[in-house]
Amino acid sequence: MEPAVTVESRPRWGKAGVRLTEQEAATIDFRNACRATEAAERAERDKDAAYGSWKAGRLRPYLITYALDRHGLYGPRVDVACGTEEPAADEWEAGVRYPTWPEFKALAALTLYPLGHFLRDANPIPFESTSMRFHLKPGMKPPPEPILCFEPEAIWAATRTPRCPWCCRGVQTVMPECLFCPHCGAAQMDGEAVRTVGGEGFAQCPDCGGRWPAETAAVPA
Ligand SMILES: [Zn+2]
Ligand SMILES: [Zn+2]
Repeated sequence: MEPAVTVESRPRWGKAGVRLTEQEAATIDFRNACRATEAAERAERDKDAAYGSWKAGRLRPYLITYALDRHGLYGPRVDVACGTEEPAADEWEAGVRYPTWPEFKALAALTLYPLGHFLRDANPIPFESTSMRFHLKPGMKPPPEPILCFEPEAIWAATRTPRCPWCCRGVQTVMPECLFCPHCGAAQMDGEAVRTVGGEGFAQCPDCGGRWPAETAAVPA
C-alpha cells in the first residue's frame, strides 16, 4: 500500500515533470515570501503616502466625478457604499465637502481605483482640446468645468488643514482676541502667523475646535 501523501512528503514538481529538490523548492518558497512581503510593504507605503496627501487636501473633485461617471455610479447607493448619506457624494463632486479618510478609502474601493488616482497633480485636459467637442450637437452646452480643488473650509472641516494645496486659498482666520484658546489654552499665534480659524462671527481653535465670538478676516494667500 502507498504511504499517505502528507504536506511534508508531498513531491513538488518544476518544469516538465522534473521533481524539484528540497533546496529548489525552498528557494522558490523564499522568493515568493519575499515578493509577498515587498508587495505588502509597498501597499502600506502607498497608503501612508495617500493618507498624507488626503490630509493635505490634495483630493480632486473632478477625478471623483470622472471615476463615478466611468462606472455609471450615481444616487444614494454611492453614499451608502461609502459609509455616508446623501448628499455627501454630490457635495464631494462640487468640492464643498471633503471626504473623511474612511469615506475616501471606500470611494476608491467602490470605483476600483488606487487611492493615488484621486490625488494626482495633473490637470484635466481642457474640453476644447479634446475630440469630444466634435460630438457636441448644435445647441448642446459643453459639460460643466471640471472642479479642480476643494473649498478650503471643506478641507479644513475634514482634515484641519487650513489651506488648499492647489490654489493656496485659506480658510477664514480671525484676529485672535484671545492669544490663547479659552478652551484648551493653545497659543493662537505662531510667530507672526495667526493660527485661529473661524467663520461668520466666530473664532475657532485649530487644536481643540473650541469656539468663541470674533470678527473674521480672510487669510491672505
Ligand atoms: Zn484650491
Ligand atoms: Zn483650544
